[in-house]
Amino acid sequence: MVRDETIMAKPAPKAALDEIDGLVAKRKDLPAGWRDTVETRFGITLLDPKEHKTFNELWSQARRYLLYVDTLLRDLNPGANRLEWFLNAFGVPEGPAANLRQEADIWARGGVGKYVLIVAYHFLRGPDFADRPAEALPPEQVLERLHQRVLGAMSKVDTQVGRQIAVDRLGLRQELESYLAEHLYLSFAPASHLEADGLTGYISAKGKGHTGKICSLCNRRSEFTQELRTGILDDYGRVFSNRVLPAAEAPQGNRLWCPICQLEFILRKVAGMGLPANAHYKNSRRIYLYVLPTYSFTPEHLRLFEPLLRPFSRVTGFPIRDYGSDWGLPHHWLERRRFDPDWIEDLQSVLERLADKIAGWGGPNFVGERALLGRISGQPHYYLITWEKAARDTESDDARVATNTEAWAKALFAATVISGLTSCKVYVTERPYLPVADPAELKSTITLDGPPPALRGLLGDRTDTVSLYGRERGRRSGLERTLDLSAALWTVTADVHAANRSTKDKHVSGRLAVLNTSPLAGATFYKEYGRLNDGQSPYPTLARACEVLLEAQAE
Ligand SMILES: [Zn+2]
Repeated sequence: MVRDETIMAKPAPKAALDEIDGLVAKRKDLPAGWRDTVETRFGITLLDPKEHKTFNELWSQARRYLLYVDTLLRDLNPGANRLEWFLNAFGVPEGPAANLRQEADIWARGGVGKYVLIVAYHFLRGPDFADRPAEALPPEQVLERLHQRVLGAMSKVDTQVGRQIAVDRLGLRQELESYLAEHLYLSFAPASHLEADGLTGYISAKGKGHTGKICSLCNRRSEFTQELRTGILDDYGRVFSNRVLPAAEAPQGNRLWCPICQLEFILRKVAGMGLPANAHYKNSRRIYLYVLPTYSFTPEHLRLFEPLLRPFSRVTGFPIRDYGSDWGLPHHWLERRRFDPDWIEDLQSVLERLADKIAGWGGPNFVGERALLGRISGQPHYYLITWEKAARDTESDDARVATNTEAWAKALFAATVISGLTSCKVYVTERPYLPVADPAELKSTITLDGPPPALRGLLGDRTDTVSLYGRERGRRSGLERTLDLSAALWTVTADVHAANRSTKDKHVSGRLAVLNTSPLAGATFYKEYGRLNDGQSPYPTLARACEVLLEAQAE
């Protein structure tokens, strides 16, 4: 992960100069001439950052990676001399090594191993690149060689003690044991017990800030609750939870979570289900689609789903617009409006096409609108497909940051498509966990957990479910109807505009407002197109979308 993250991070060609000048500025007690002789003492050459951009960029990336390694060593092998480890692992030449030992205090004051700058240089100029200079190789290959060298040297380090300390600090072992004692039922010894009485903590009066021993995610009581880490959860840590009095933001600090929840989100990250590295939760929106079996998934299910869900494992999406001859999904659906083999084939080719495109844009690291399934091993109880529109911290284009209505309207469209593809129940929620224990509790084929009221035009008389009923009365099923309306509305959102103008996906909220209030929304959109385009009629797909809206609303 560190290697991948380093490859994605922006290289900084001035990093070496900045670091050395920073030392000069901060360490007032440096001997005279320290800066002037730094190159000879450590056997390095400070090349001009612009003229030798490639080398300086590699140097900054190697340094960045080794800083991670330095903290890892500090945590996993607390007693060891890290500088010695680096000097050995990278075979830094005698002279510079001796000087670095002598200046250890200057380079490592405050606990950060800045000496890795020198180590990184000698790695790039050392035996690993005897065949070809590092600059002649792509950065990925250079970092891979670095990674391999570190892995080799790390394998000789005894990390058991450090790991034990880290796990103890999290309370993982004790917590997993009590979790199993609470939840594991053995058929030959049916009994269970609650480890500690959570009720007292649970019913105690709420305060403004997070205190106590109750996990704000799962409501379990734990001796080991800690403030949650937003970088692992990929969500806000201080916004409203059910453990504090309502306020826009909880004071004091992040809400608490238990070791089990922390472990869950660490594992999700490892399984590739976190936000992409360069996205930030503050501008990203995620909706979770839990795909549940009627009873349980059998090995036959898994064999059947594997090819269907493959594009999601690669990261794909649900395109709602056409790009030239590459149709979006609404266009394909409106062609026949039937869950037939042709539709499945069209759907598969669109999902594969988008997965290919996204692979070219960075695959799992692609920041944008995407749908994905984490790596799965064994036989799951459910599949978790995440729809997300990931955006950077600094994103200034408002079209790249989803609104609540846009996100839900897309997630509903995705849920109808997935439900039709798998014949499974789909539970759609913004919560990162499944609030339902038994799929049999879910009566409808799609259940939405707290959708915005704006979606009511798509959901019909019910407000938060989509059912399969309807056929028995000679009508289209609830699922078909919702897919009809969604596909038609997305077509209208994308295509009703004047020539040479374009629309944003978030404009769907205005289209929904019309659908919710006018029984003749289809006609309204049809006329609007004519007004914007000198009285021309919409082209066939858009005309069909308007027709479908009228037909579905008349039912
Ligand atoms: Zn928890």
